[in-house]
Amino acid sequence: MVNPTTSQTTSFDADVIIVGGGPVGLLLAILLAKRNKHVTLVERWSEAYGRPRAVTYDHEIARILATLDIDSENDPAISYHDELYYWKNRDGENIQIVDWQSTSASGWRVRYWFNQPDLEVRLGNIVNTFSNITQYRGWQAVALSQTLENATLTIKRNPEEAGLNGESRVLTGKFVVGADGANSFVRESLGIENEDKGYFFDWLILDMIPKTELHMSPAQWQLCDPKRPTTIVPGGPGRRRWEYMVLPGESPEEMQKPERAWELLKPWGLTPENAELERSAVYRFQARWAKVWHKGRCAVAGDAAHLMPPFAGEGMCAGVRDAVALGWRLNGILEGRFDMDILESYTTERIEHAKHYINFSQELGSIICIADEQKAAERDARMKAELAARNNTPVPTDICQLGHGIWHPESAGAGELSVQGVVKANGKQDRFDQAVGQGWVVIGLGTDPARAISQAQREQLERLDALFVTIDAPGSNGAVIDVNGTYAKWFSTINAKYVLLRPDFYVALSAPDAATFQERIDFVLNQLHLTASVAAAA
Ligand SMILES: Cc1cc2nc3c(=O)[nH]c(=O)nc-3n(C[C@H](O)[C@H](O)[C@H](O)COP(=O)(O)OP(=O)(O)OC[C@H]3O[C@@H](n4cnc5c(N)ncnc54)[C@H](O)[C@@H]3O)c2cc1C
Repeated sequence: MVNPTTSQTTSFDADVIIVGGGPVGLLLAILLAKRNKHVTLVERWSEAYGRPRAVTYDHEIARILATLDIDSENDPAISYHDELYYWKNRDGENIQIVDWQSTSASGWRVRYWFNQPDLEVRLGNIVNTFSNITQYRGWQAVALSQTLENATLTIKRNPEEAGLNGESRVLTGKFVVGADGANSFVRESLGIENEDKGYFFDWLILDMIPKTELHMSPAQWQLCDPKRPTTIVPGGPGRRRWEYMVLPGESPEEMQKPERAWELLKPWGLTPENAELERSAVYRFQARWAKVWHKGRCAVAGDAAHLMPPFAGEGMCAGVRDAVALGWRLNGILEGRFDMDILESYTTERIEHAKHYINFSQELGSIICIADEQKAAERDARMKAELAARNNTPVPTDICQLGHGIWHPESAGAGELSVQGVVKANGKQDRFDQAVGQGWVVIGLGTDPARAISQAQREQLERLDALFVTIDAPGSNGAVIDVNGTYAKWFSTINAKYVLLRPDFYVALSAPDAATFQERIDFVLNQLHLTASVAAAA
């Protein structure tokens, strides 16, 4: 930790101080500010980072962005391709096919394409609308300490922007969150170590803006050619991306020179005449995670907590999930609903979920990053045979469970993202989240869930602002109608009559009858570390 040597001036109080104004820090700031918390956001650079990185996110992120009125289906800055995701060998034969085409059970398409700097500007504009978010842009965190009551962060003007003798300030907050990227100052200050899988590959990323519309078929694919493993994907509307593995012996510096980029792009028909090279950069792909994600009043989120190679397009997605997971917990603590101990489950739930995607991304990398002819031939033969054996059926996108935490382990579907269908409710027909709302949602299929639980449980859930929803079949005159039978099907699959959803859309529990429902609600409420005022018996 660095001690400030310049004068320390004003102190600022915030509920939560967030270090880092990337997508994760911005989203967390919004989620806290929406519930009237005072947030201070500290970002090293005055201007948005502007360098393309993430280009794709999944259905869960679309669901989260929809709560900010960013509609991935109808937004000019977001695109989708009604196509599968192909992995081909150098002869153009499929060795793997992934289902990036269907609509996911959670109500949004499996994959969307976008430009990360655009999204960051978008989130930044939302942040600017909140008078309860104070922003220090062009400032960097340089020292962090905490007591049982608060956390103190010293910030200093970024010397690269303001000269070496920049001013410094000391900020106190009830919490400090490091969403400060891979080299996280907050993580290091907290003495949190990384678990590193020792995985390193350098890839050249070329972001292209074709001057006329460029139709590629397939739109999204991997070329598993040992001579030059390559990823060819959309980059959001008006953009395309090529990613090339830097081969053993090649110099990353040489590779990222524009002339090298144009050489590599020539076989794809791209030239300076018909396309703009927006960015050419070599990134080192890594696989690692922080061993714990919170300590006392401080936590880490996003790349500060985990890094994965981008083959599954899940790095930022994991960070967005962190922001949501941390957001509802911090809001709850600050609103006097939960004790601090609820933060334990932030680490236990999120770390396992993120590790799943780190391992998965690394597995994908181990398929594509093969530069050895013999090994590539063996891979191709094995994968072609496997694909043929399952009649070219695409691999479905996986269902991933949270690590242990605030969900009932014996409930079917619990710890997983909830299914979402279209409902008729409140005078509109839309996805459930938009038509009914989000938060703690207690659902009964064809039956009032509030009548299946005790008065004490009902009051505790009401103190969490829970919504009690009865979903009825089409043709009935209920308040919430299951337009396409999605809920009837889902509840039947998990043999449930009742379900409790969490504010992050994950399933806390399901139950086939009222007695089991009551028992499981007690279990989940217990995991929440409710404060005495919320837990008070009726
Ligand atoms: C080539 C590439 C392709 C990718 N593709 C995808 C993809 O398709 N899909 C996907 O989901 N993910 C993808 N990712 C991952 C994604 O880009 C990151 O996971 C995401 O940017 C992480 O966001 P973050 O907010 O956690 O961190 P960052 O975006 O790194 O933001 C951290 C912020 O903290 C600031 N900061 C750092 N230290 C301090 C300090 N001491 N004081 C103040 N501010 C500080 C930095 O200036 C920065 O603005 C890709 C990554 C790369 C490199």
